[in-house]
Amino acid sequence: MFEKQIICSNCGRSYPADRMIFRCERCSGSLEVIYDYSKLKRVVTKEKLRAREFLHSRYLEMFPVRKLVTLNEGGTALLRSRNIERELKLRFELYFKYEAVNPTGSFKDRGSSVEVAKALEFRVKRVVCASTGNMGASVAAYSAIANVPCYIFIPGDAATTKMKQILAYGAKLYKIPGDYAKAAELVEEAFNTHKAYLLGDYLYRREGSKSVGYEILDQMGFRADGLQIVTPVGNGTLISGVAKACKEFYIMGLINRKPKISGVQSRGCDPVYKAFKSCGKIVPIRHPDIISKAIECGNPLDGERALRAIQDSYGFSESVTDTEILKAREMMARREGLFTEPSGAVPLAGVIKNRHDIPGGSKVVCVVTGHGLKSPTTAVHGREKRISGDPKVLKRVFRE
Ligand SMILES: *Cc1c(COP(=O)(O)O)cnc(C)c1O
Repeated sequence: MFEKQIICSNCGRSYPADRMIFRCERCSGSLEVIYDYSKLKRVVTKEKLRAREFLHSRYLEMFPVRKLVTLNEGGTALLRSRNIERELKLRFELYFKYEAVNPTGSFKDRGSSVEVAKALEFRVKRVVCASTGNMGASVAAYSAIANVPCYIFIPGDAATTKMKQILAYGAKLYKIPGDYAKAAELVEEAFNTHKAYLLGDYLYRREGSKSVGYEILDQMGFRADGLQIVTPVGNGTLISGVAKACKEFYIMGLINRKPKISGVQSRGCDPVYKAFKSCGKIVPIRHPDIISKAIECGNPLDGERALRAIQDSYGFSESVTDTEILKAREMMARREGLFTEPSGAVPLAGVIKNRHDIPGGSKVVCVVTGHGLKSPTTAVHGREKRISGDPKVLKRVFRE
């Protein structure tokens, strides 16, 4: 265990590393785990990492737990574009980090692996989580293997498939009339009044999400020259986890420069983008309603961190329309063989929009966050045709 302390990023107050806490007790600011990097540097070397299996667990010392609760999450493919790069005549290399192949179909499993392990260390009796669907499904699966009762609160317009997935893992599911922000308030209240352990976009989930960043750097041979990582931004936990991962590998001397980190949001719910453009504070968006449900966070828990991750690394911030997202999603499936839910196509939509500003020779990685099968009702182009089973119809079929 290499954690030194927990600090509040807002007021700087520090807490002991073994404290069960989700927000700063003085200012309610968002918290961060700080490690002893000089110690870590001696223990975590490239050679040692490479000797281990390529999975989330490869980076164990970089997490604030002794042991992970694991379903062999992570170790996902980093795929170079087969067609889009050439067809759009991009002057940079385009890659996809395909997170859909995680055990529950999204990158959330990396965070759940750490969070649920932490809950076990604290010997909690139950865990609660507010979710738009994917996080709920992920923590439901990890709580199931850890034998911890799991309570999920979900907004009324969540996708039915995601609810089915949560129920399948045996979690208790509560649908509330409000949006995600409302569900998030309710679970924080459950922590305050019922001592239920909070799973969600708090300090430990960010720690788990870091492995997206570690893996990309690892897969790029620990070379970050010209590297740019592009993620969707909902609560901003993924992007701030990726930024923290890059910072840590840099501090530990595993990479000798930091990549650019860019964040893309959806037009109807883009408070981080608006703050970036106006160089101001994040102003919450009330009652957002967008097709990319997994990033429908009007008041992002890690919004300030997301903003800083982009600003500090000189990445871009972008906001894309539903039409642009669906177009990117279709291109990814038809030209790259990668089927994703709308949120997972948001980075590519952002890259396409910014392609003329990305320096030639860069390596641009889109994090494809979740599986297409998770939102089967989102429109796809094309339609099945009814035919008879008579072999004679084949002639007609192949003439088309
Ligand atoms: C959770 C999620 C996101 C957004 O991640 P944040 O950490 O909330 O910014 C994006 N895409 C998918 C598929 C997700 O499940």
